[in-house]
Amino acid sequence: MDSSIASGARHPTDQVIWRDHLPFWAVHVLAVGGAIYIGWSWTAAAWLIGSYLVRMFAITGGYHRYFSHRTYKTGRVFQFLLALVAMSSAQQGVLWWASHHRNHHKYSDEPEDTHSPRQRGFWWSHMTWILAPRNRITHYDRIKDFAKFPELRWLDRHDLFIAVAWGFVIYFIGGSTALFYGHFLSIVLAWHLTFCINSLAHVWGRRRYETSDDSKNNVVLAVLTLGEGWHNNHHHYQRSARQGFYWWEIDVTFYVLKLLEKLRIVWDVEGVPRHVRDNDVSAERARVLATTSSQSAAV
Ligand SMILES: [Zn+2]
Ligand SMILES: [Zn+2]
Repeated sequence: MDSSIASGARHPTDQVIWRDHLPFWAVHVLAVGGAIYIGWSWTAAAWLIGSYLVRMFAITGGYHRYFSHRTYKTGRVFQFLLALVAMSSAQQGVLWWASHHRNHHKYSDEPEDTHSPRQRGFWWSHMTWILAPRNRITHYDRIKDFAKFPELRWLDRHDLFIAVAWGFVIYFIGGSTALFYGHFLSIVLAWHLTFCINSLAHVWGRRRYETSDDSKNNVVLAVLTLGEGWHNNHHHYQRSARQGFYWWEIDVTFYVLKLLEKLRIVWDVEGVPRHVRDNDVSAERARVLATTSSQSAAV
């Protein structure tokens, strides 16, 4: 694979053919139109919130913290289940997702970054990059560690089938309310909140660490995405399964992972070493000030 094709720099195949993405827009229309037509109820709310929480955990705890960053270990069955549930959210295949995300960290906000608001603007980083023809492929060379599992390769190739089949299962369990709130509306909500980490979390928030990219910490996004809003923390130290580095930084995905660790479903859940956590902007400023004052004292 030519690395220039894999980069975020402008390329002829960036031209998005909007009619090729009718299913993407159709899901938006179905979700909102269906939800309005069926109407709000407590059952609808339970389907929407329950489905969103399960899916979002599979995306953040699975696609992101496990498949992209390997911040904890688990067995082959649970790994398969994580990928399967995450794929119900129609964010393409597990290997596709993780391979593109690894590229984002390798070139964060550099021209080669797949979805950088600094390089290509807000809407490109939010969702246009997904619709560009060159980003449809899975970069197996970046995800060899998981591409060796045939069941994951099978899942990755059948992303549309899994999302559609999941919709049928939901419909048979809970009827139209479940289908429109627990499947379609939940997909759209999970789409845009996940996309916000690639767009808003590089634009809106505070920076604790002076990383080379524009990543930000944002409490609103952290609450809504089960902990992914501590994006500056995450860019500072990607090996941690914990993205809220302090007890007050809400990180629901990490709490669930700790529970799963207690149940021995996952293990070796990586935390953040204290010296890494404390190496923040204020500590850096204090060090610079101390060096400057000692130099002036010496003069
Ligand atoms: Zn990441
Ligand atoms: Zn980022």
